[in-house]
Amino acid sequence: MLNIVLFGPPGAGKGTQSEKLIERYHLAHISTGDLFRRHLGEGTALGKKARSYMDTGLLVPDELVISMVDDKLQEEQDTKGIIFDGFPRTIAQAEALDVLLNNKKIPITGMVALDVPDEELIQRLLERGKTSGRTDDQDMDKISTRLEVYRSETLPVANYYQQQSKFVTINGVGSIDTIFKKITDEISKLQQT
Ligand code: ADP
Repeated sequence: MLNIVLFGPPGAGKGTQSEKLIERYHLAHISTGDLFRRHLGEGTALGKKARSYMDTGLLVPDELVISMVDDKLQEEQDTKGIIFDGFPRTIAQAEALDVLLNNKKIPITGMVALDVPDEELIQRLLERGKTSGRTDDQDMDKISTRLEVYRSETLPVANYYQQQSKFVTINGVGSIDTIFKKITDEISKLQQT
């Protein structure tokens, strides 16, 4: 199985590259941001709990995220592999994912990080906010909060995978196709190790 964690700050291009990777490798996609937005749209109990965190750019509490991912993993039993997008976003989530996957005897192949400077991220997010309808992309305070949360809570997750020699980083600035090529090259190397 090919199980890739696509990592990077908000606006790094994880969603865009996920779509291309899914098509190339026929993988399932677990995007916790998308899953939460669906719950929000459908007005579920989980959506109601997550809303205030998402509206301010803070992380939804780990236990809610982890149980949602657990449910989603149950649905994806027969897949060739999974792209994790926007998850794990804390060390607790990374540890919980390992437990969930170990129980199913399926390891993470590797984490691929997209490196993009803050100025570019801010520009991309504000641009996306004009058409996405996402209120968290339309407000500089919310964007700043998300970038701060990324640095303080999410960045340590890179070390977690680095310690397992499963971490690669690539330049996330350039054309979508150039970046995609770099990601697939790294995936080939990860598959050989
Ligand atoms: P982005 O990467 O552009 O900030 P996402 O679509 O991944 O956006 O997530 C949107 C929001 O959903 C986050 O700001 C956060 O509130 C919530 N969220 C998504 N994934 C997680 C996660 N793994 N842990 C906690 N909160 C999450």
